[in-house]
Amino acid sequence: MRVSQFSVRIIGITLLAVFLTAVSVNTLSLNEHRNLYVQKSMQNLDALSENLSESLLPFLVSEDDIPNIATTLLQLDRHDSTVFARVFDKNDQQVFFYVNPAKQTEWSDTTLQDAQFNTGFGTELVNKLLVSNKMIGDESYAVGRLLIVQDPESSLKQSANTYLKKVIPLLVFIASLVGFLAFSMQKRVLQKLNLVTSFVRKIKHSGNKLERLTIENKDEIGLLAEQINEYLDTIKNYEFKIQKQLNDLEENKQNLEKIANYDSLTGLPNRQMLHAILRSALAREQRRNADLAILYFDLDNFKHVNDTLGHDVGDQLLFQVGERVSHLIREGDMLARLGGDEFIVLLINNEQDYYPPSEVAMITAQRIADNLKKIFYISKWEVSTAASIGIAYAKQANFDTELLLRNADIAMYQAKLQRTGGFALFENAMHTRVQRRHEIASSILRAIQTKELYLAYQPKLNQQAEITGFEALLRWEHPTLGALSPVEFIEIAEKTGKITALTSFVLDNVISDLFILKAHFHSQVSVAVNLSAMDLKSDTFKQQTLALLVRHANHAPNLEFEITESAYLDNFDAVNEFVINLHLAGCKVSLDDFGTGYSSLSYLTKLDIDLLKIDRSFIHNMENGKADKNIVETIISLANNLTMSVCAEGVEQLAQFDYLKKIGCDYFQGYYFCRPVPLKTLLETYPKTGTS
Ligand code: C2E
Ligand code: CA
Ligand code: CA
Repeated sequence: MRVSQFSVRIIGITLLAVFLTAVSVNTLSLNEHRNLYVQKSMQNLDALSENLSESLLPFLVSEDDIPNIATTLLQLDRHDSTVFARVFDKNDQQVFFYVNPAKQTEWSDTTLQDAQFNTGFGTELVNKLLVSNKMIGDESYAVGRLLIVQDPESSLKQSANTYLKKVIPLLVFIASLVGFLAFSMQKRVLQKLNLVTSFVRKIKHSGNKLERLTIENKDEIGLLAEQINEYLDTIKNYEFKIQKQLNDLEENKQNLEKIANYDSLTGLPNRQMLHAILRSALAREQRRNADLAILYFDLDNFKHVNDTLGHDVGDQLLFQVGERVSHLIREGDMLARLGGDEFIVLLINNEQDYYPPSEVAMITAQRIADNLKKIFYISKWEVSTAASIGIAYAKQANFDTELLLRNADIAMYQAKLQRTGGFALFENAMHTRVQRRHEIASSILRAIQTKELYLAYQPKLNQQAEITGFEALLRWEHPTLGALSPVEFIEIAEKTGKITALTSFVLDNVISDLFILKAHFHSQVSVAVNLSAMDLKSDTFKQQTLALLVRHANHAPNLEFEITESAYLDNFDAVNEFVINLHLAGCKVSLDDFGTGYSSLSYLTKLDIDLLKIDRSFIHNMENGKADKNIVETIISLANNLTMSVCAEGVEQLAQFDYLKKIGCDYFQGYYFCRPVPLKTLLETYPKTGTS
């Protein structure tokens, strides 16, 4: 065991303490011994001088009997410490002076002579000398005085020496014993302390807090060891906790990164990650002056799936689309979900590619479009969908991330318009087109309020060229875009879900104009209102229209509704039910643009309609080719057989009118008679024929 400086110091201090204790005990006891000795000597001296003065009395009564006095005082030789004695007579004259021969060497003659000690009677200590002054005889009859001086010091020394000789070995023995015991106890304590120290040092070096200190005894060191072990346990627990917290933190960090960069539904990179990756890919391609393509797609009927089959199915569809498309792109390309049903494919330009980037983009887009048309199996449903894909190139967007995404979005929009479930390549012209469409779409509702929109009426005539009714057609005088064609804005309104608002606007205006029209022309005058396919799909619109007809039952027989064949047949049962209700309300229904949609005429027998409107393209082409002439003739005879009336649209020439009349057409509409005009112009152009 290594004895530390500390141990040496402790042991040194202990031994010094034992030594000092022994010395002070010894000094104290010597002092006490001296006091006792002096006291005892005083008592002895007192008794001795008492005896001697009694013995001396007879020798001083009559005459001083010097020989006897001397003989008596000789007794003092036996008392070693006596230095001298003096005997005085009644006149206090010294009669005898005794000096102890043993002391004569220590005391000089003059000192002895001078030592008178004229103290009072009694025994006392004067300058370390015991002085006894005794009266000889009693107070009433004093015959003399006896003075005895003793020096106790030498005897005291002797006695002390004897005392020390006895006591010192004992003291030494006790001190050694105490010293030994203290030393061995401390050694034991220090040994354990050293154990503790080296254990702590070891832990410090190894860092292994699983080790434990074993000290069996339950003394203070044992308790200290226990405390250290407990402390180590606590540290270990903290270490575990801290480690756990660190692990949790790391996990949280990873989760946060995941949440920040990946879409939780599909697990695909999200918009943020796409932006980051796209940005660096564009920078790289720009340095190499290479192009890069992105495909932007969404699902054509996703909202419908969500609305009819529920959000869970919608979510599943998005997930499966993600899965499916992931397998259709090359390694290194990236599929990301922007949100909703919008996805982006980033096609990384690869120098080893066989096809140039533009071809790769189109091939991939076609592959995705084809595959997304295949049925998806989601729980018990067979869900079919299609994607419209926009393709845009980095060079066209000047390697700008935002612009590239916007271009692809515009191209996707274009793909949607083509309605083929395919793809479209971005062209710069699309920008202005899209902006215009956007402006139109966003100002439709405003236009209804501000009277920018109004109705034009185009007369419908019978074979006698008499006005039987009108077709109400929308007109829009846009403040910045000028006069807009209904062909353009009706389609935008249909795409953006605003068509029913427009149709309701038309209906309301027609109903309020009908009063004037009936008064000006005649009470049977009819006004035709065009219905869009979207109107016929909206239950709210249909209910509101029927309610309106109930409210304006007086005008209902004057109202005609024009439905295109495709709108009718796309949603046959629902439209047919609505048509029946319109008939019940007293209205008429015509089939608009007939001949442009379905080539088969067999379905005509199933439709509950009053009038067929032959599309103006047939009328226009009657001159040029025999075929169209035949078609028109066939349509008219078929309609006649089905007891439907026929109206020819787009009659621009007298010859057309004449010919159509000849082959049995009932009604005519076209620029030859009148262009669509506002109500005011109509009233100004045609004289009042009505009776009311
Ligand atoms: P539509 O229902 O076939 O309406 C007849 C269209 O033919 C009108 O075009 C009319 O101006 C035009 N037209 C009439 N006679 C002639 C002619 O002799 N020659 C030529 N070339 N065209 C003639 P408009 O007003 O531009 O309307 C175009 C289409 O817009 C309409 O075709 C209809 O589908 C739609 N539309 C117009 N107004 C409405 C409306 O209020 N609601 C709905 N849903 N669609 C409307
Ligand atoms: Ca029409
Ligand atoms: Ca038409």
